[in-house]
Amino acid sequence: MTYELAGMTYDELASLLATRRVVALVPVGSVEPHGPHLPLSTDTAISVTCALRAAERLSSEGVSAVVAPSVSYGVTDYASGFAGAVGVPADVLTALLRAIASSLYETGISHVCFINNHLEPAHDAAVRAATTCFPTGSASVACPLTRRWGRTLSDEFKRGECHAGRYETSLVLAAGLPVRASFEALPSLSLSLSAAIRDGKTTFSEIGMDRAYTGAPSEATRDEGYALFEKLVTMVVTEVREGLAELNALSEAT
Ligand SMILES: [Zn+2]
Repeated sequence: MTYELAGMTYDELASLLATRRVVALVPVGSVEPHGPHLPLSTDTAISVTCALRAAERLSSEGVSAVVAPSVSYGVTDYASGFAGAVGVPADVLTALLRAIASSLYETGISHVCFINNHLEPAHDAAVRAATTCFPTGSASVACPLTRRWGRTLSDEFKRGECHAGRYETSLVLAAGLPVRASFEALPSLSLSLSAAIRDGKTTFSEIGMDRAYTGAPSEATRDEGYALFEKLVTMVVTEVREGLAELNALSEAT
């Protein structure tokens, strides 16, 4: 059985929706430079892998979930000046995600979860803004930028060195995407993105990320990526389950 919405026919989807409540997971990412060793699609690839594994885990726990086509363009102001930073304005992203969620509800989906792994604050805010107009329990955001989920991840992530370093390189290795062999020789950088953003820096270049990465890519391993995906999947499953619990509480009250 496929978890990919776009791989289904309309009558396969209709018969699934006729028998049970269905959750849609929408992977959100960016087209943005991730060091000299990772693809521009890194954030989207992490969200897609996360969504497919979360759909599998939810289904094994009796919650029907499908993975909708991803939204691969985000707000990429920090990467400006590098080749490959292809972004959209925040209000355009919010409007697009809102329209996608509305259409998913119209087709019979009960809950929409945006899975976001592009961690630029303005991008995260734009994704969250897309969910505020829907009824309680019908939409959620799963993103490791919150303290609640960030604290479950690796030390490098918690230090804020979370762009194309050991954290993301491990995830891309585990997702099975090609990582340029040069990653093993890249020097480590301890530049905290989160601290620099708090200090008012607005671009990778200003932060000193001359090759669009921070952290320690050379320490990345596929096994660490598998372990990190488990945590990210727990994040998604928990956010979805909490949304569904709110929906249940509402339907019991009415
Ligand atoms: Zn990234």
